Amino acid sequence: MKKEKQSLLEKDEKYLWHAMKKYNPEGTMISTSADGVWITDIDGNKYLDGQAGLWCVNVGYGREELADAAAKQLKEMPYYPLTQSHLPGIHLSEKLNEWLDDEYVIFYSNSGSEANETAFKIARQYYQQTNQPNKYKFLSRYRSYHGSSFATLAAGGQNQRAFRYEPLSPGFVHVSPPDCYRSPFSNENGECCIQAADEIDRTITWEISDTVAGVIMEPIITGGGILVPHDNYMKRVREICDKHGVLLISDEVINGFGRTGKPFGFMHYDVKPDIITMAKGLTSAYMPLAATAVKREIYEAFTSNDDYNHFRHVNTFGGSPAACAVAIKNLEIMEKEDLVKNSEELGTWLYEELQELKDHPNVGDIRGGKGLLAGIELVKDKRTKEPIEESRAAKVVARCKEKGVIIGKTSDTVAGYNNIITMSPPLSITKEELHFLVTTLKESI
Ligand code: PLP
Repeated sequence: MKKEKQSLLEKDEKYLWHAMKKYNPEGTMISTSADGVWITDIDGNKYLDGQAGLWCVNVGYGREELADAAAKQLKEMPYYPLTQSHLPGIHLSEKLNEWLDDEYVIFYSNSGSEANETAFKIARQYYQQTNQPNKYKFLSRYRSYHGSSFATLAAGGQNQRAFRYEPLSPGFVHVSPPDCYRSPFSNENGECCIQAADEIDRTITWEISDTVAGVIMEPIITGGGILVPHDNYMKRVREICDKHGVLLISDEVINGFGRTGKPFGFMHYDVKPDIITMAKGLTSAYMPLAATAVKREIYEAFTSNDDYNHFRHVNTFGGSPAACAVAIKNLEIMEKEDLVKNSEELGTWLYEELQELKDHPNVGDIRGGKGLLAGIELVKDKRTKEPIEESRAAKVVARCKEKGVIIGKTSDTVAGYNNIITMSPPLSITKEELHFLVTTLKESI
């Protein structure tokens, strides 16, 4: 090991607390530069980033236009809070309405967790201000992830993430995810998903619908193992929400901005959510920015001139002008390069290519087909579906890395679902690069 690298690793170990990382200084990669889909580490090794960072660098690395947009705005006006307004904030909100293809009012924050927290606060206050003060509970699905704060962890359905941080925020109720591979119900005609949706219906009734404010869901569960529901599921959930007078919150933190081959994940399912949360791909992670988009009808409950009826919620950095300027440029790049379509087309190709693994004795399920998002569930035995040991799934990830490809893996230790390989490369990836990713993965498995 070069002396400089050794010294950096020592300092890293001494001063830097890594996210989600078990103690393992030898395994730390120090990245130094990036371009397109490629990351270079301190030793000069190049890796194809098949996870787009944390599912977020949608336009790929090395986009000078984004750096220029940030620099220009930082020089012109680096900061002013959104208690008032500024030009990038107005222009971005208008542009997001185009992407959402409907009328939404946008509240900005800095992370997906905050965007979801904001959604919960808006939903609760909305019902308080529309004479339904008992509505405060939220339903969410096991295996989902919605963030790291107390309320979003409570919404999440991966309890190993909550363990030792409890008690979390009260008022969150969990139901089964639409997991077609492991559902006790048949996969035929989407029966498993109809059953999963109907569980939401029953649970709202049992909880007393007058106490339920919202259902939060990713259209496609991502971090929980790429659970792609049947086309009938989200529409049915929308109908159930309408029946009970409950808001539907679509967590588009990963699903949004082309990841699923549409501008937003919900657009696959012919539904309109009441609240839509977004982050990650909004700026392709070049700047921290998140947003909570709220249907105008809901926003209108907050517009009376009263001391308590407005949304009494603020964050210093949310919607900072440079972050908004970067988001606008990021969306322009996606439009100019038709990256949503690229995601759709290459995502279909990726899914077809992965089918070659179907007969492998340890490949239980291959999921994807909607955009550049795919998962492979590894099992010990196809018949029993017993998940493969985590160490063996981790070996596939490690082997890919040795061959120059970074992919992901789920980490649900409670249910034992830390056996699913995940892929979500930048949407700017070329077919040749994706071919390299798939070939490497096949060899590694
Ligand atoms: N929602 C989903 C679906 C996510 O995957 C994540 C993060 O991975 C979040 C919310 C939280 O976003 P952040 O890490 O920016 O707080």
